[in-house]
This record gives sequence, structure tokens and C-alpha cells, in this order.
Amino acid sequence: MTRFLPLLVILVSAPLYGADQRPVLALVIDDLGYSLSQGKAALNLEGDHTFAIIPGTTYGQKLAALAKTKSKEIILHLPLQASNIWAAAESNTLTESMSEDQISLNTVAMLSEFPDIKGINNHMGSHLTEISHFMRTIMESIKAYRSQLYFLDSRTSARSVAYIEALNSGLDSIKRDVFLDNDHTNLESIRLQFRLWLKKSRNTGSALAIGHPHANTIKVLEENLPLVQKEFKFMRVSQLILETKQSEEPEGSKQYLSQFK
Ligand SMILES: [Zn+2]
Repeated sequence: MTRFLPLLVILVSAPLYGADQRPVLALVIDDLGYSLSQGKAALNLEGDHTFAIIPGTTYGQKLAALAKTKSKEIILHLPLQASNIWAAAESNTLTESMSEDQISLNTVAMLSEFPDIKGINNHMGSHLTEISHFMRTIMESIKAYRSQLYFLDSRTSARSVAYIEALNSGLDSIKRDVFLDNDHTNLESIRLQFRLWLKKSRNTGSALAIGHPHANTIKVLEENLPLVQKEFKFMRVSQLILETKQSEEPEGSKQYLSQFK
């Protein structure tokens, strides 16, 4: 067995983003639905990105339809309770005062607003994503509703258990690496975060950034996305999850390992 080990290591660790070996940039634009013009500007950004729509918003349906005509990936931006009690909550935010049945019913109601979603990520949620039993209820509701949906943990709390509870429920899951615009009034701060996104992708082969449709964020993205296409490739989140799974379990290594069971 030992003389086969070097081959095995090569097979298991080979980056398999097809023949194209450029590192991957996955971009998610959150908080769509309140402004039609901001939503359109986001959908017009260069590249294959993912768009998170808040349920129950004035322009949510219109932007979902527009995304469909542009073949863009959309996900549900599920509003969850923040730890900051002053944070502006949506009227449909899921909170710890709800029973698990209510959480489940409301989750499914919000999922069913957008038939074309490929996944879900959390809007706010720095409080609720830390509580395992709520996350388990939400993930199991999603899994029962449509098992192919993925959950992107926006990681609004460092103690979030959303990612692990999604995996435990059998959903595909992925985590946010960089927030582009926590300080959206400061262009330099957004540019700095954009460069951090590139650096993380260069180091690990892929990185997932979340931004919001603020004027400054759109400006930085409009200026910079076209410039990085030579070195990087853009990828919608569902594709990144799929290719990551394939690269972790290449066919060759599965067949190879099975010979030694
Ligand atoms: Zn949000």
C-alpha cells in the first residue's frame, strides 16, 4: 500500500475546477428587494454572481423575475433575529420567541415565495444562528421542503452553528469568507476588503464574498470586477459547492480507494 500513497495524495488534493485552473471568486449580493434601481445595478454587474432576495419586500418578485431573464442565481435571504436589539428587523424575522412549529411554518412560507431559488442565506441572525435547536429546525424544514437547496452561512456571528447544522441535516452548505462593505460609507474600506477577497482566493483556490447594493459597493464592484477576470473566474454559489464536492472526491480516487477496502 505504501508505494501507492504519493499517487493517492495527488488524486485527493488535485484542484479540479475543470481544465480552467484560475482561482474562484464567488460573490453574493444580499438585501435585494427594497430598491428596484439598486437591485438592477447589482444584477448588471459583470460576471456570474448570486443574488439574495429578502422575502416580503416590494420589489422581491420583480427582481426574481429579472434575475431569471438574465439566468442569474437567486437565493432566499432568510431574516433571522440579530443580537443587537436595536437592529432594524423585518416584519417576517424569525425570533427566539417563536415556537419550533412557527419557525418551521414561517420558513416554508418564505421559501415558497421564490420557486427559482437554489439556496438560502441568513439576513442578520447574529443571535438566532448561535442557537443549535433553532438552526436544526430551520435546516430540517428546508431539507423537507426541497432537499437540493444549499445553505450559505453568512456568519454574522463568529459563534454561528448554521453551517454545521445544515450539514447535519443533510443539506449542502458553505460559509462566507469576506464581507465587502461593513463600512459602506468608506470607499477605501470596500477596496481593502475587495483585495482581501482576492488574496483569500489566491491562497485557497476559492473565496466567497458578501456585499450589499450600496452605491459605494456597486461602484467598487463595477470598477474592479472587469479587471480581475484574467486572473480569477467568477462562479455562482451552487457551482462552487458542486465543484468543491467533486474536487474532494474525484472519481479516480474513489475507484482507487475501493480497491483497498
Ligand atoms: Zn442581509
